[in-house]
Amino acid sequence: MRYAKLCEVYHQLENTSKRIEKTTAIAQLLKKTDDDALDKITLLLQGKVFPSYDDQKIGIASKLVVKALQRTTGLSAGKITALWKKTGDLGETAEQLTGKKTQATLTSSHLTVDKVFSTLQKLTTVEGKGSVDLKMKMVAELLSSASPLEAKYVVRTLLEDLRVGVGDGTLRDSVVEAFLEDDREKKEEYKKAVEQVQHAFDVTNNFGTVAKGARHGKLKEASLTIGRPIKVMLFLKVEDFKEAFERVSKPAAIEYKYDGFRVQVHKDGKKVRLFTRRLEEVTTQFPEVVQWLQKLKAKTCVLDGEIIGIDKKSKTFLPFQQISQRIKRKHHIEKLVKDLPVVVRFFDLMEKDNTSYLDKHYEERWKALKQTVEQSDDVHLAEHKTISTEKDAEAFFKDALHKGNEGVMMKKLDAPYKPGARVGYGVKVKTSMEELDLVIVGADWGEGKRGKWLASFLVACKDGKEYKEVGKVGTGVKEKPEEGLSFGELTKLLKPLIIEESGRSVKVKPKIILEVQYEEIQASPSYASGFALRFPRVMRLRDDKPISEIATLHHVKELYEKQ
Ligand code: ATP
Repeated sequence: MRYAKLCEVYHQLENTSKRIEKTTAIAQLLKKTDDDALDKITLLLQGKVFPSYDDQKIGIASKLVVKALQRTTGLSAGKITALWKKTGDLGETAEQLTGKKTQATLTSSHLTVDKVFSTLQKLTTVEGKGSVDLKMKMVAELLSSASPLEAKYVVRTLLEDLRVGVGDGTLRDSVVEAFLEDDREKKEEYKKAVEQVQHAFDVTNNFGTVAKGARHGKLKEASLTIGRPIKVMLFLKVEDFKEAFERVSKPAAIEYKYDGFRVQVHKDGKKVRLFTRRLEEVTTQFPEVVQWLQKLKAKTCVLDGEIIGIDKKSKTFLPFQQISQRIKRKHHIEKLVKDLPVVVRFFDLMEKDNTSYLDKHYEERWKALKQTVEQSDDVHLAEHKTISTEKDAEAFFKDALHKGNEGVMMKKLDAPYKPGARVGYGVKVKTSMEELDLVIVGADWGEGKRGKWLASFLVACKDGKEYKEVGKVGTGVKEKPEEGLSFGELTKLLKPLIIEESGRSVKVKPKIILEVQYEEIQASPSYASGFALRFPRVMRLRDDKPISEIATLHHVKELYEKQ
């Protein structure tokens, strides 16, 4: 397929905010796409070249794109950057400049979807000496064959910032419209088709597979595959145990809510793999955990649990922040294993011995989990009880806090496992004022001894597809890296994401999430959200969470009204 065809659809998508129009545009394209190309097209529509369970990233910096544009247009970096500042979008800049290519680089070859896709994938494999130059040449080669519109979307895809607004929901509806039911008036049939496609996506995380299944009437065959992480089930927050029981009914399970990070374990024979809740693989970072889990009593299984840091001497739980570097670091792992020991607590089972447990009730899944996990100090089931009264819940809650946990989870005994959904099959009860997970959209360079760092961070919540600021925060971030999340670390993370600079302030691509505590939410005209956080304080980096799950403006409003 010509890449131009896909770009026409991108263009249509960008120019409408109506979900139905987007859905139809994509459905038309999917119908015209051969089976072989469905994987690529569904990924590219979301601006990706790897499915979410593959942790390879394109990882191209804006600077490199500017260099490639210098090569294809013959313009100076200064000129290109000036135009970029004006448009605020390097993709649009590329579009405008591509019309002005020098004769020497003008080629008549047409870009194909295959060519763009494979080049973008290949970029991740270029490493070592001279790699920056080679990558630049690969990008320049693409740009030199591109039309202005193609250049725009090549650049945006490279920078992982496609801006055409296609979420999982839109793609799902497009698959329904393309292959199953295009008449929304047939309410029952339509709803059923949506549910089928959603379920297939939840267990495969791959719209290419789902689209093929839908086209050939084989959606039911889409199933959980060992080695491919599924989205985890999420929970609702409730204020007290009365509300908790209303949600999960009586009797219910109650468990400690551990302050670690969510881990999804896939075991296939002797092979054990670990994934985070963002579906990123962390197997190599936790060799000791992999070794312990060889003992799981199942040929195959998929388990849901939490990895928690423990204090070396007292063996008590540590807050997540203290072990967060174990997720990120890929070198000197043996030292980290010793310095920052962890334990595992399991609370769910989604598959065992080639049988899916997703539709089975929690009670039954727990029973199977119990039979699968050989318990020790290191590997254990979550502390768990079945209760029917608020009094019992209170007592369990107190005990949980006393042992250094964040609170408790309560779960509905007769509910299935719903991947990826924040459904009321489980609820959490925590103590303190609720923190907000917010994304950094800008920052200011510090002054004096903090001059080399970005030191104040503009944070935002989500409002539909937009990000709306709620305040600036620097408090809580440390100068010394050994004391926790530091200015140095945040600066390193944010620098490659800078999209605009003016004076001492920068705008950054919304990628880095902070958990922020505050005294109060105030109404305020100073920020786009209409709210401001009073005395905000950074608690930790939320690098375990996808951006789709940060706080929404609706939620901020709710908290404001509740105060
Ligand atoms: P929070 O910021 O409160 O951890 P969250 O948005 O990360 O919430 P939720 O689904 O709302 O995620 O809350 C449950 C989280 O708590 C899980 O993602 C998991 O990491 C953790 N957790 C700890 N203990 C349990 C448990 N026993 N059962 C389920 N989740 C648990």
